[in-house]
Amino acid sequence: MAGEPQADCLFCKIVAGDVPATVVRETDTTVAFRDINPQAPTHVLVIPKAHYPDAASLATGAPQLAADVLREAGRVAEEEKIAAADGGPGTGYRVVFNTGAGAGQTVFHAHAHVLGGRGLEWPPG
Ligand code: 5GP
Repeated sequence: MAGEPQADCLFCKIVAGDVPATVVRETDTTVAFRDINPQAPTHVLVIPKAHYPDAASLATGAPQLAADVLREAGRVAEEEKIAAADGGPGTGYRVVFNTGAGAGQTVFHAHAHVLGGRGLEWPPG
């Protein structure tokens, strides 16, 4: 059933506490933890506790939960002090949902990457 924990899902195991993670924020519905292979000085993953395979299925199946993830991404950025919008290097941040293996998704439990603390190029690779 949509949203139910999946036994073979790494991020469901992090939610359950069966795999350790460096948690920076937690709410009733979300967890935010540091990426194990950071691509920027700040690289935090925000996930819904419920299992949805990607951002699109999350937004369709549980729109309030998708909003919770986006709100938490913003709060992580505030707490990490990367949310300043003055345009200097290392200020501002990026929220990324890789969706599909062809776009780099490797864990099929919806997650927002919150990246910042360095200059970020556009277009992304
Ligand atoms: P994706 O490639 O699916 O967009 O992002 C998955 C992310 O999960 C990657 O950035 C990867 O480094 C991270 N990751 C994979 N395994 C673990 C883990 O066991 N712990 C943590 N904290 N991050 C992980």
